[in-house]
Amino acid sequence: MTLPARAARPQGAPRRVSVLGATGSIGTSTLDLLARDRARFEIEALTAFSRVDDLIAAARRLKPAVAVIGRADLYPALKEGLAGTGVEAAAGQAALIEVAERPVDWTIGGIVGAAGLEPTLAAARNSKVLALANKECLVCAGAVFKAELARCGTALVPVDSEHSAIFQVLAGESPERIERLILTASGGPFRTFSRAEMAGVTPRQAVNHPRWSMGAKISIDSATMMNKGLEVIEAYHLFDVAPERIDVVVHPQSVIHSMVEYCDGAVLAQLGEPDMRTPIAVALSWPDRMPTPVKRLDFGKMAALTFAEPDAERFPCLALARRALRAGGAAPTLLNAANEVAVEAFVRGEIGFLDISETVERVLDGLDAATPTTIAEVLAVDAEARSRAAAEIAGLARTVVAVSAPDTRMQ
Ligand code: NAD
Ligand code: MG
Repeated sequence: MTLPARAARPQGAPRRVSVLGATGSIGTSTLDLLARDRARFEIEALTAFSRVDDLIAAARRLKPAVAVIGRADLYPALKEGLAGTGVEAAAGQAALIEVAERPVDWTIGGIVGAAGLEPTLAAARNSKVLALANKECLVCAGAVFKAELARCGTALVPVDSEHSAIFQVLAGESPERIERLILTASGGPFRTFSRAEMAGVTPRQAVNHPRWSMGAKISIDSATMMNKGLEVIEAYHLFDVAPERIDVVVHPQSVIHSMVEYCDGAVLAQLGEPDMRTPIAVALSWPDRMPTPVKRLDFGKMAALTFAEPDAERFPCLALARRALRAGGAAPTLLNAANEVAVEAFVRGEIGFLDISETVERVLDGLDAATPTTIAEVLAVDAEARSRAAAEIAGLARTVVAVSAPDTRMQ
């Protein structure tokens, strides 16, 4: 995709913004930034799925025009919680989409998973800038998603820290001068674990990321390194760079957020503390910059920065994602759906950690859908992959003793 030009913006006009997934990790970091500069931002909509109390608290604090809860049964609670505030309350899937469609300058796509596809696309239709955190949208619907954004003239600005790093490093450079994109990966909580050790890990261990504080699903994806696989696919769609020119390097300190190597041998990197408020601020104020309270790097006190090749044997998800990207067509949609279902099953204690990659591989091996060319077709492939993954999991679950109590933080 061509990077959006650094167009001039009228000075002084507040930006009207909507936050999809306002109660999540990305959402709360975004609200933190918005709350620090109320003169610069007007808030149209805050949305959430089931954390109604968090949504009410955020809406009372930030006074959006409307707050939407995805679960229709939570409407009475939302309505009552917002009584007297002047904030409109809405609920249900149709409301999520209708509210996302209201015209704004800027929307952050902070919903997790393919469930975010329709609301995020709805937002993209009437938003000048879509700041995208929800990488699953690009993985499961890449070409269709980008075509819709191009049709609507919506600028796509990445929020994922690696892609934000590349976005910043690429500013003003010609895409044809790129030799390689180098995505950094922390390696997750099991970076040094053997396969035998990984076999027994619990969801609680898996969500305990050593460097970043994130939602449960992406934390588990980081632990399997599927997150980095999804990010390779995301980078392919965002920057139009051939898959073999997108490398991954394990960098446990998470100080360098990613790099670009140019044809003259120069490598440019973006550095910073691992705090999502920096990439969110980059997207929020783009093409300008804004101050943030993020801790500053202290080079005098910094420990050594280290780098290593990812271990394909211990982390097969990375290779599975590359395989899906090479295969193209419906394969990335299958990969993403199977992974979401497997992660949810792992969180519920139904399968072991290593069964996540096993499930994804079985779904990729066993299904061969036609290339989806519309969102409806993407959703049909996604649904087929989910039922296939569920069947695989039912088979695997019979052989697995529940690894731990269910972890409710996925809801
Ligand atoms: P999270 O689980 O903390 O929050 C998810 C948000 O999505 C919540 O507000 C929830 O209410 C909403 N949501 C969940 N299911 C929904 C549904 N069916 N319909 C509507 N809304 C729904 O997740 P997160 O960590 O904030 O991640 C959000 C997205 O950003 C993910 O795609 C993730 O990969 C990406 N991302 C996150 C981080 C991070 O640091 N957390 C970094 C890079 C990218
Ligand atoms: Mg990332």
